[in-house]
Amino acid sequence: MAVRRFAEMTWEEVRDLDPAKVIAILPVGATEAHGPHLPLSTDVIISEAMARAGGEKLAADGYEVLLLPSLAFTPAKFAGGFPGTVSLSPATASAVIVEIAQGLAAHGIHRVVLANSHFDPANIESLYAAVKMCEAEGIAELIYPDLTRKPWALRLTNEFRSGACHAGQFEGSIVMAERPDLVDDEVRTGLEPNPVSLSQAIREGKQSFEEAGGDRAYFGIPAAATADEGRRTVAELGAILAEAVAEALDR
Ligand SMILES: [Zn+2]
Repeated sequence: MAVRRFAEMTWEEVRDLDPAKVIAILPVGATEAHGPHLPLSTDVIISEAMARAGGEKLAADGYEVLLLPSLAFTPAKFAGGFPGTVSLSPATASAVIVEIAQGLAAHGIHRVVLANSHFDPANIESLYAAVKMCEAEGIAELIYPDLTRKPWALRLTNEFRSGACHAGQFEGSIVMAERPDLVDDEVRTGLEPNPVSLSQAIREGKQSFEEAGGDRAYFGIPAAATADEGRRTVAELGAILAEAVAEALDR
């Protein structure tokens, strides 16, 4: 089976899909500040890479995989103080996802995987709310592997698990692998490490990158990023996505 870009198909091709074999993947990113060296679209790039890598595995297992157009505007409260960040409310974001699922389900596409790499708590909240709504109203099955939780988090890099992970080594590596043209390497290699854990700052009630101690909108070690690490991480993210689907369908 193939991985297809949904938006590039014709309506007749969509009509002729076998509903039992179809899995749609919705990459969920953000439009938000990612340090002085990475683009606003960093999380979109990462989620699209995860969707592609996971989609290839699912296609090899016999599924008809549809890569949906990405969700690039989502809740991004933590980065809200930085120019370029565009943040939706969680209620708006979950409504958008639910209505996308409704639109797909109306034409026989009932399984949607959320490939998310944007860990603002307001975004994660909106994803869980969308999953719940779709389940409660029988709209569709949304499969959401939350990378911030076990078992998935344990399979990602040390920096990721430390929580000092926004525009640092983890994310920078993936953008270097996927879109090196969008990385300002001169700035990146000159950045001092910022080992503040965002997940801990969130638990302490901090509400923004500035409050958490990231006055240039990055956490972690940008200078340590490599394209090689990025390729390994993308492969792992793809494996996680495919395993999450297999588990959900087993249930
Ligand atoms: Zn990010």
